[in-house]
Amino acid sequence: MSDPRQRVPGTDRVLTHPEVAAAADRLGHRLVKHAVHTAQQRARDGEITVSAVIAETLAALPDSAASSRPVLNATGVLLHTNLGRAPLSQAAVDALRRAAGTTDVELDLSTGRRGPRGAAALAALLAAVPRAEAAHVVNNGAAALSLAATALAQGREIVLARGEMVEIGDGFRLPELLTATGARLREIGTTNRVRLDDYRAAVGPDTGFVLKVHPSNFVITGFTSAVPVAALRGIGAPVVVDIGSGLLHPHPVLPAEPDATSVLADGADLVLASGDKLLGGPQAGLLLGRAEIVQQLRHHPLARAMRVDKLTLAALEATLRGPSTPIEQALRRDQQSLLRRAERLAEALSAAGVPASAQPSEATVGGGGAPGVALPSAAVVLPARFAELLRSADPAVLACLAHDRCLLDLAALPPEDDDGLRRAVLGAA
Ligand SMILES: *Cc1c(COP(=O)(O)O)cnc(C)c1O
Repeated sequence: MSDPRQRVPGTDRVLTHPEVAAAADRLGHRLVKHAVHTAQQRARDGEITVSAVIAETLAALPDSAASSRPVLNATGVLLHTNLGRAPLSQAAVDALRRAAGTTDVELDLSTGRRGPRGAAALAALLAAVPRAEAAHVVNNGAAALSLAATALAQGREIVLARGEMVEIGDGFRLPELLTATGARLREIGTTNRVRLDDYRAAVGPDTGFVLKVHPSNFVITGFTSAVPVAALRGIGAPVVVDIGSGLLHPHPVLPAEPDATSVLADGADLVLASGDKLLGGPQAGLLLGRAEIVQQLRHHPLARAMRVDKLTLAALEATLRGPSTPIEQALRRDQQSLLRRAERLAEALSAAGVPASAQPSEATVGGGGAPGVALPSAAVVLPARFAELLRSADPAVLACLAHDRCLLDLAALPPEDDDGLRRAVLGAA
């Protein structure tokens, strides 16, 4: 027998195979060539036969030129930061696909002249929150805060209660962001208590604005007092409120979560929020409030560095104008139907020999919203080892480990995903 290495098909020959060539058109030459080289090496090493090089190349190719994979969120945390927070609605996905090419993001098609950028998304935001005189959108909540701090308080003071000096996650400390803009913090009150008199005493000619921050990921209970936005009316400086989660109206399931409309009605001059939390849209920072203040922010030189792209604007508009978002649907799922889904799944898995059962569980909003709120849910219970296996299953699933068992919480998943969940578990088993 001759040395099999001599018979490994050459790179050019593999690349001209019709299916491989089609894959190169779709995924890019470089990525496909890498898969060819890997398959050739495996043939040289005797791991596969030389006749399998083309099949091996095709099998190793990814579905997409980007490496990110869809993951089923079975954690019971509706807004999971590591999973990209809010899943977009189909309407938002369609909108960003349409906007991906050349689009009229900054063009008035009726006149052929340049138009205001993102006007439709801003109009949708104002239609959703008529209380706001004007709106602006930047890249995320942190950008909204830093734009407000820079434009309204650089070299001056931001009055902030000590109990609202929040760390969001991944080491993001809001007070550090604020001082990085060149504003000074005027801390008032204590960790657990602040009074209106503290605000009155702190506001003076050097005040840029008074900031209220929603403690969106913790609760302080016991001997506490905070000052509501309504009490700060007429304090002598603009009142800026960071509500965090992006609810635009009060939500029946989350009565304690602040919303833009109520906070503006209470007299806030400017409200800041994220787009990808409870609003259920793309990553964005929303600024809503008095026209004069919003104009000032919009025209600040830094605003250009925080400008959102056409994809964000399209997805945001569709989120605001389109049907109920996945996160909204998740908030409204009732425990009985979740439990029925969990039981059906557990039965199907047990019938296939996987030790599975169903039980009631508790989900949370997560991702900087509704801290301490437990949402009644249901889960499929599996042996603990499944948690790891499911991360590399097809489709990938992120489960929750509790009391040495693997829980697949259904709160964040629509019923359409049950089949994928079942397939993933059977594959992992
Ligand atoms: C989440 C959050 C932020 C940060 O928003 P990003 O969109 O993550 O930048 C700021 N403030 C509050 C209160 C939050 O909950």
